[in-house]
Formats: sequence, structure tokens, C-alpha cells
Amino acid sequence: MSAVAIATDVQIVVLSGPSGSGKSTIVRELLRQSPIKLTLSVSATTRPPRQGEVHGKDYYFLSSEEFKQRREHSEFLEFAEVHSTGNWYGTLRSELDRAKSEGAWALLEIDVQGAKSVLEQYPHAISIFLTTSDFEQRLRSRGTESEAVIQQRLATAKSELQSATMYGHQVLNDDLQTAVQQVIEILKTQQPPRS
Ligand code: 5GP
Repeated sequence: MSAVAIATDVQIVVLSGPSGSGKSTIVRELLRQSPIKLTLSVSATTRPPRQGEVHGKDYYFLSSEEFKQRREHSEFLEFAEVHSTGNWYGTLRSELDRAKSEGAWALLEIDVQGAKSVLEQYPHAISIFLTTSDFEQRLRSRGTESEAVIQQRLATAKSELQSATMYGHQVLNDDLQTAVQQVIEILKTQQPPRS
């Protein structure tokens, strides 16, 4: 068997949205509340861990060299340089296999470049773009990024908002519970994954 197993029959759910759109909170609540079992795909990244982040749980923190090698071995379903920081992020195909083996749908929290690539490969993936009316304020209130990083993320957010139409669904996250319920309703209307 090749090192690259491709789980084509796992249902993929792609969730994107600008920094500050509350993606992480929505993801946490979805994992808790969704009646459809979801497995969060753990992305690989070359960015250094933030305080408290755990390898294998928050991300697979890889050196640039290892990321490149895995790219060359086609281990990624998608990958992208996010926020023009020189940091690479990607979804390992093995994460789809993991979701499949857990009998779950794979939830991918990725940027718009990654989403585009996934949708090209899996047109039946469920794609949801999250937005909010006060993302700048949320981004700032996190207090984890420098002003330069915030400016960069705001610029990315503006261009990401222009890509929102590529997604099958858009959900406004001004109220957490409402947004979570909307996402759950979207998931419930989709066909179960083929077995
Ligand atoms: P952060 O560095 O704040 O954890 O994530 C920054 C951005 O990277 C987020 O907007 C997130 O959607 C994106 N991201 C995280 N994992 C992946 C991935 O596997 N692929 C792509 N394309 N983007 C990702």
C-alpha cells in the first residue's frame, strides 16, 4: 500500500472565516453539540506554538524542512502560506483517514486558499464561511498578537471576505448559540457519508 492513503468517502466539512470571526469557539461548540459526529482535523504548521498549544492536539508543529518533505510526498490534501507570514499550514490526508476510522465527518478549519483547493478536489464537501460584524474588535480583544500582526490579519480578512461567495453557506456569528445552531442545521440537511 502506498504511504498516501486517500479517504475519498469521508464527508468533509470546511469552515473558514477571517481572524476574529470566532472560528475556534464555534469549532469547540460544534464538537460538543453536533448530533453528527465530527472529528476536528489537526493541521500541520511551520509557525511556532503559542503558549499552551500542544503538538498533535492544536497543530502538528513541523519544521520547514519536514513540511516540505511531506509536501513532496503528497501527504497534504491542501496547503497554503497563510497571512503572508512565511508560515505554512496544511491538512494531512491522514487526518481524513482518522476521521473515517472514527466513523465521523472531518471538520477542517482552514483558510480560503485551502478551502478552494479542497472544494476543487471534493466538490461535495460542505463549505461554510463564518463572518461577524465586529471581527476587528474580537481580534484585538484576544490580545495575543502584535499591532503589525493584527494589521496583516485585517488585510487578509478583507481579501478573505471577497472569497466568501465560493462557499456553499455563509453564517453570521454575532451570537454564538445562533451561529452554532445554524451550522448544525446545515450539517443535518446534508446526505450521510457513503459507506
Ligand atoms: P493560527 O496561526 O491563528 O492558528 O491560524 C491562522 C490561520 O491558518 C487560520 O485562519 C486558519 O484558518 C488557517 N489554517 C489553520 N490550519 C490550516 C490548514 O491546515 N490549511 C490552511 N490552508 N489553513 C489553515
